[in-house]
Amino acid sequence: METPVTDLAATSLTATPQDSAPETSAPTGATPLDTKLFRRSLNHSDNYFRRGFGHGKAVAETMASSYQSSLIQDIRANGNLLQRGDVTIRLAEAFGFCWGVERAVAMAYETRKQFPAERIWITNEIIHNPSVNDRLRSMGVLFIDVQNGEKDFSGIERGDVVILPAFGASVQEMQLLNDRGCIIVDTTCPWVSKVWNSVEKHKKSDYTSIVHGKYNHEETIATSSFANKYLVVLNMEQAEYVSHYILQGGDRTEFMVKFANACSQGFDPDRDLERIGVANQTTMLKSETEAIGKLFERTMMQKFGTDKLNEHFMSFNTICDATQERQDAMFELVEDPIDLMIVIGGFNSSNTTHLQEIAIERQIPSYHIDCADRILDERAIEHKPLHHDIERTENWLPAGPIVVGVTSGASTPDKAVEETIERIFACKERLALG
Ligand code: SF4
Repeated sequence: METPVTDLAATSLTATPQDSAPETSAPTGATPLDTKLFRRSLNHSDNYFRRGFGHGKAVAETMASSYQSSLIQDIRANGNLLQRGDVTIRLAEAFGFCWGVERAVAMAYETRKQFPAERIWITNEIIHNPSVNDRLRSMGVLFIDVQNGEKDFSGIERGDVVILPAFGASVQEMQLLNDRGCIIVDTTCPWVSKVWNSVEKHKKSDYTSIVHGKYNHEETIATSSFANKYLVVLNMEQAEYVSHYILQGGDRTEFMVKFANACSQGFDPDRDLERIGVANQTTMLKSETEAIGKLFERTMMQKFGTDKLNEHFMSFNTICDATQERQDAMFELVEDPIDLMIVIGGFNSSNTTHLQEIAIERQIPSYHIDCADRILDERAIEHKPLHHDIERTENWLPAGPIVVGVTSGASTPDKAVEETIERIFACKERLALG
């Protein structure tokens, strides 16, 4: 086994609010790590893999039998429509597994094949789907324990194989695993890596990265870890607050309280908003990411003048196609009358949540479920309303003929969609029988 990238191993890292940590977490320290150099060195290490291992064909067969669905293929062939009895199912044009997720899951399966005897860990859920994660568990893949919000890496030993999930891992975690002599299988989606590259460019020119995302989402934590200075804004309201601060100044204490967990250590809004670059969590609503980018562009133009814009603002197009396609398909789906919308996806899946938001905006009764089992029977459903905990709703299924819109997030296999549709049909039949 080749020695890890030890020339960088001694370099410690700037702590971030999310990273300030117990011994078990990834290392933090005083000297900023050259993340670009570290990634480049890691790429050349014999212990680092970011492509498959040549077991693609065997894995594709297993994945097809585990995750694909002939019913869904039939519905797709029928213009995304299926009618049975009183129920018409209308499927979104684009939904379910995206390319990056499929690639990550396939790489995880390949890893098991490649390392049949080694201990294999994963730093987080491979994707936000419970059944896919359970399947990995059944293959003996160990999930790193999380205690009080902190990951416990203490069980990982030299020679263990560690998979990084589709939404990536922080550079501190990568460094820890590399220092420990682990074999790293990096399934980070190339679209996420593209955002990291943008952040590297911000950093190189000493710009602050403003990340549109959720500060505690794994992808945003990973993205922020590549920045020197960053600020995470959740939505347009927060972006407008920051824009106003840039233009008019404001209450620094209030600012710091508002973004306490969402900025780099030592961040100073009076100093660090002179030059900004915009980046994004790839699964945020595309329209909002674009609007936030434009807002900051206008803000910097207003403050520094059009001729100086390039000295104060940087932006790259890093919106993932898959996220965009699923959102566009959802907008199209809700154009026609729908009585009920079922959105399937992990409860912590950001892109799924955004699909549900679209239904809510159109005032369509909608239920976000993570698997078919949440449909308890024709009377009751367990689901997660937006920004609330899981709850149970009675009488969720209307009597008489209904049109049910169905979509799913990028981490949801077609099999889960098929099971949900079959459950809806069965419930409706029982309801009709009284
Ligand atoms: S949603 Fe986009 S960024 Fe995320 S894994 Fe899929 S392809 Fe990659």
